[in-house]
Amino acid sequence: MGSMSAPAAEARRVLLAAPRGYCAGVDRAVIAVEEALKQYGAPVYVRHEIVHNKYVVKTLEKKGAIFVEETEEVPEGNIVIFSAHGVAPVVHEEAERGKLASIDATCPLVTKVHKEAVRFAKEDYDILLIGHEGHEEVIGTSGEAPDHITLVDGPGDVENVSVRDENKVVWLSQTTLSVDETMETVDALEKKFPNLLSPPSDDICYATQNRQVAIKQVGADSDLVIVVGSQNSSNSKRLVEVALGAGASASYLVDGADEIDEAWLEGVTTVGVTSGASVPEVLVDGVLDWLAERGYGDVEIVQPVQESITFSLPKELRRDLRAEAAEKVSGGSSEA
Ligand code: SF4
Repeated sequence: MGSMSAPAAEARRVLLAAPRGYCAGVDRAVIAVEEALKQYGAPVYVRHEIVHNKYVVKTLEKKGAIFVEETEEVPEGNIVIFSAHGVAPVVHEEAERGKLASIDATCPLVTKVHKEAVRFAKEDYDILLIGHEGHEEVIGTSGEAPDHITLVDGPGDVENVSVRDENKVVWLSQTTLSVDETMETVDALEKKFPNLLSPPSDDICYATQNRQVAIKQVGADSDLVIVVGSQNSSNSKRLVEVALGAGASASYLVDGADEIDEAWLEGVTTVGVTSGASVPEVLVDGVLDWLAERGYGDVEIVQPVQESITFSLPKELRRDLRAEAAEKVSGGSSEA
């Protein structure tokens, strides 16, 4: 849709994508930190940002969470929580060596990819992991089978890939990639390795896919698309790319309303809005308020897919919560 120079006030509108924001894995990871703080008291250490969102990290810090880069930074005997992006087995070993009680908040859909990597490595496949170099999830997954995994960072990387046996190659992927770009990479890999095996099920998770489907529809009808999310959030960045690919004239990633530039609205009739999987809704509300103050108060929800997935809390927390509940019950009965 092309932009108009002076949109009439009554024509201005917002298309709000749904689903957007928190996915089940992020929700679980954030609740895990909050529950751990309640259960064991502050401080609770968290290795890396629990999810890639500045606001979430700051809010948890205020409640007593301490974020560290390396497991070694956690003083002996403390609790450490591993982030939703997953960790390599070596990190679990570090926690054991440091006599730390670990709570693993890795998203179950990332764990699924780890398990696939372990299985294919056991069968001695060369594993081509499609993902972004340096991303925490890719580091964690690669750590499951470093001798078998080669990272493929997009279609342009395919020409550099070599394998031991062209008949024993499988591809896996990071969970938060662009669906379309990943398929381009897979096509290029298949041209090079015609017997390339595909993963048993989608590695790009339901939340990443659904948010892309929704923003594709919104982007096709918007002049400007604002994606709420942090710069280090892979799935949020992909939403900007998908919106542009769908036809939006411009799209920007912002942490919140304070990062929006008034000049972006020039000549804009329709503003699309969405948020990445690690973004709390309060930040989207801030953006909608900011837009409403500038005449974009008419909000239409565009929801091509429904979502209802939830995950239970990490097992270490469930075990301790159960034990606490049992203690309360037995304590109660002895008083009776
Ligand atoms: S984006 Fe997907 S893989 Fe990542 S935490 Fe959310 S549900 Fe899990």
